[in-house]
Amino acid sequence: MRYSRALTAVSVVLGAVFIRAQNTDRVSAVRDAAIGGTARNILLFIGDGMGDAEITLARYYAVGAAGRLALDTLPMTGAYTTYAVEEHDPSLPNYVPDSASTGTAWATGHKTSNGRISTSARDDRDLPTILEIAQQRGYLTGDVTTAELTDATPAVLAAHVARRACQGPADMAACPQDRKSAGGPGSIAEQEIAHNVDVLMGGGAARFEQAMKDGRTPIQNAAKNGYEVIRDAAGLERAKRGRKLLGLFAKGNMTTEWSGEEARPYPSNVGSPQRCTEDHRPAGEPALAQMTTTALALLDRPGAGPGFFLQVEGASIDKQDHVADPCGQIGETIAFDRAIKIGIDYAKAHPGTLLVVTADHAHTSQIVGRATETDHPTGSISELLTIDRAPLTVSYGTNLYHRSQDHTGTQLRIAAMGPQAAGVVGVIDQTDLFQLMLRALEPRR
Ligand code: MG
Ligand code: ZN
Repeated sequence: MRYSRALTAVSVVLGAVFIRAQNTDRVSAVRDAAIGGTARNILLFIGDGMGDAEITLARYYAVGAAGRLALDTLPMTGAYTTYAVEEHDPSLPNYVPDSASTGTAWATGHKTSNGRISTSARDDRDLPTILEIAQQRGYLTGDVTTAELTDATPAVLAAHVARRACQGPADMAACPQDRKSAGGPGSIAEQEIAHNVDVLMGGGAARFEQAMKDGRTPIQNAAKNGYEVIRDAAGLERAKRGRKLLGLFAKGNMTTEWSGEEARPYPSNVGSPQRCTEDHRPAGEPALAQMTTTALALLDRPGAGPGFFLQVEGASIDKQDHVADPCGQIGETIAFDRAIKIGIDYAKAHPGTLLVVTADHAHTSQIVGRATETDHPTGSISELLTIDRAPLTVSYGTNLYHRSQDHTGTQLRIAAMGPQAAGVVGVIDQTDLFQLMLRALEPRR
């Protein structure tokens, strides 16, 4: 679709009339939302690489400048810092973290170095995770992602290894001390099964099909340990309350929801803003919202314990940021927001649910001014045509063209509702999220 200057001029004039969002007195709404005490359930949503730029970009593109996403409606919002520490000297900050160090921070309350999965920097101690603590207290648990289930974000809850690369039994070169033959707990895939997490869903089937030392695979172990193993969206119907579920819907990462043209250096991609193609995901792979609905249906078992802990990750916001694909990135953010909407509806219907939406680290994409011959970003850019029928330019400039774009070190949004949600207000640190969830798990008095 060719961008029309006249059309945009008209919509800007009209837009001035209705484009501003309503700003009402929110004091009583915030006061009503400030509840302490124990949570029956914890629903944690992690948008991998979902910084403020990624949220704003998805909002502007898909629901417009005056629109609001589901995650924008949460009553309590604050910001948190995400820095990691250095492996050689854990007293030194590393300002640009990865999903392994940041995951360890929110899952265990401890800073660690990049690449580590719930183990400490330098001395390699196992750090207890919020999922493990919830399990010990009788809560049901779930871990859901659009990446491989053995990727860093889902891994930090139910595995302890020195390096995030040690995903399957055949991937242990970087973690000699964690090998089973060395008396260690084995790969991330093996540990996730051994942890008896009630609901595991995502991609990464190939890791669970690798042979262990005894010739068996983690998938075979899962079936032996009582898991219902499903491989496609149709299999979700076989999921039963009271039975553990392992859903592996892709060999590697799950397919992105949307597709489009990648960002490129000026002047290519300039002059004809793109609309994204929105039906990229194959029918056999469930949407994140669908996985979230199934996970909630399985974990919502009054009488089966105090409640549940569920983590839901929108993983490929990060992965599409890395490859400078704005449509892929926006589609994943919108799919993540649809999953959040499912969670918010559940939390509203089930008071006593702590729901938190945040990210692990910030990323590359930036909303920038229109590129001209004399003024344009030095990195890659893409022009999009938003739902407002206005052009929006996004730039990717943290690495060279066709190199993986880098994470960034800025603080992130954290938003919440339910018991302890007021703990997110202000500027906190990522490790404080662990403490907040721990308070919500305190035994009822
Ligand atoms: Mg991740
Ligand atoms: Zn990344």
